[in-house]
Amino acid sequence: MNYLYAPWRREYVIRDKKSGCVFCDIVNNPSCDDENFVLYRDENCFVVMNRYPYAAGHIMVIPLQHIDNIENLDEKIWLRMSKIVKKCVKMLKVEFNADGINLGMNLGRGAGAGIAEHIHYHIMPRWIGDTNFITTIADTRVFSSDFEKIYKRLKKDIGRYVTND
Ligand SMILES: [Zn+2]
Repeated sequence: MNYLYAPWRREYVIRDKKSGCVFCDIVNNPSCDDENFVLYRDENCFVVMNRYPYAAGHIMVIPLQHIDNIENLDEKIWLRMSKIVKKCVKMLKVEFNADGINLGMNLGRGAGAGIAEHIHYHIMPRWIGDTNFITTIADTRVFSSDFEKIYKRLKKDIGRYVTND
């Protein structure tokens, strides 16, 4: 199965395709952070839960800037994103007892990016033997009922890992 090798491949599916960019929509509406499942934001980037996750705790780090490539992304923003990614990895290991993490970006449609016009970094916690678990969860949609709970939990945790320094 495809996602065993690239679990984030069938990523952020948009059901009601709005005009414009879904990530910019989040950027421009900080008052809706809770309903958009935003965990953290600063002047360079934000951290948000993936609405269609492969596993509990599948999150993304995204620059505020609408940009479809990393080559032209400001070095400062890139470094800030990397720093946040590192801290989120630690958070998922500690708080979710993840045995491993899938980390990556799909750059461009050819790479399978769902929203190719605005780059985003996937961070997905994994557990040994979790493959069947994920499949079951996805099929039965049990997972979605826990989504809110996971959001609240991570929102509470993230301040201890990702700081504005
Ligand atoms: Zn955008």
